[in-house]
Amino acid sequence: PIKSKVTVVGSGNWGSVAAKLIASNARRLSSFHDEVRMWVFEETLPTGEKLSEVINRTNENVKYLPGIKLGENVVADPDLENAVRDANMLVFVTPHQFMEGICRKIVGKIREDAEAISLIKGMEVKKEGPCMISTLISEQLGINCCVLMGANIANEIAVEKFSEATVGYRKHKEIAEKWVHIFNTSYFMVSAVQDVEGVELCGTLKNVVAIAAGFVDGLEMGNNTKAAIMRIGLREMKAFSKLLFPSVKDTTFFESCGVADLITTCLGGRNRKCAEAFARNGGKRSFDELEAEMLQGQKLQGVSTAKEVYEVLRHRGWLELFPLFSTVHEICIGRLPPSAIVEYR
Ligand code: NAD
Ligand code: 13P
Repeated sequence: PIKSKVTVVGSGNWGSVAAKLIASNARRLSSFHDEVRMWVFEETLPTGEKLSEVINRTNENVKYLPGIKLGENVVADPDLENAVRDANMLVFVTPHQFMEGICRKIVGKIREDAEAISLIKGMEVKKEGPCMISTLISEQLGINCCVLMGANIANEIAVEKFSEATVGYRKHKEIAEKWVHIFNTSYFMVSAVQDVEGVELCGTLKNVVAIAAGFVDGLEMGNNTKAAIMRIGLREMKAFSKLLFPSVKDTTFFESCGVADLITTCLGGRNRKCAEAFARNGGKRSFDELEAEMLQGQKLQGVSTAKEVYEVLRHRGWLELFPLFSTVHEICIGRLPPSAIVEYR
């Protein structure tokens, strides 16, 4: 039988952990090639060395996931075209704002039988309306694209603490099962649901709620307020998802990608952390500044997602239906103070 070959496109905090998970299975399972390529957006470290070379020498992503061995079968490759050329399973995991450019570079350069999965939380807003990242991949590259989302703070999975994740698929259950197979480990329990839009919107929208939760923390409003924000946020996540895609299932919100990811991100995520600092500074320091200072090259997705969601709401005349989503954006751009997060009519 022909073996599958996996390439991970992206090597940030979660990208590196995804490569580690996949590499441990690729080594173990006979239906996969041992080697897992990981495309690295090349950069020069303060030592003067190239990041990809250091990863290959030390087997660690010293910048985005220091202290964790990725597995000897992970090969860092700074050449995007070369990294994707031979793979029939492509795992996309970069900050969402870079995906359009990446697709443009590899269109026509991938295998015809390639299958994709997106671990990316975010969306693009075009003139025609919102476009989920899996749809962007699927349309630009002409391939099928599943998604994997869940309560997955990367640093915790890196040290093999138990967690769950959800694969969302459109039609072919066998393909979703193949993705489950390559990700699932004793400490990373993956299940599949037939609701690609629901799963992806959960992962995307919870980042906006996490910004709101961070404001509540920064203003020291306590647990009840934070729980209220999470509940209102979850309600808006569900309403927004169903307005955009009536096929979205209620049950998806009870999977790891739904309520569980919302909880973990509102407790321990990067969006929460930077939003807390933003509120503590009374909104006087911008998110760009805080991101650069607090995350050392890692990227926030919630602030841009709040803007993208706001554009959709404004275009469709839905702003009043989503007070939490719209307030988060207005606080992020300085139109409202952080305290507005609890001012509802
Ligand atoms: P990250 O936040 O660590 O982002 C940094 C990555 O972006 C680095 O690999 C960097 O090289 C790359 N980069 C910087 N500029 C670039 C450019 N111009 N073009 C291409 N790449 C560039 O990344 P991450 O944590 O792997 O997140 C990727 C996606 O996974 C996001 O959508 C995120 O929401 C999602 N996610 C993250 C976590 C987590 O805990 N980190 C968990 C689940 C999902
Ligand atoms: P942050 O990007 O806020 O850290 O969220 C990580 C995440 O998506 C956990 O599932």
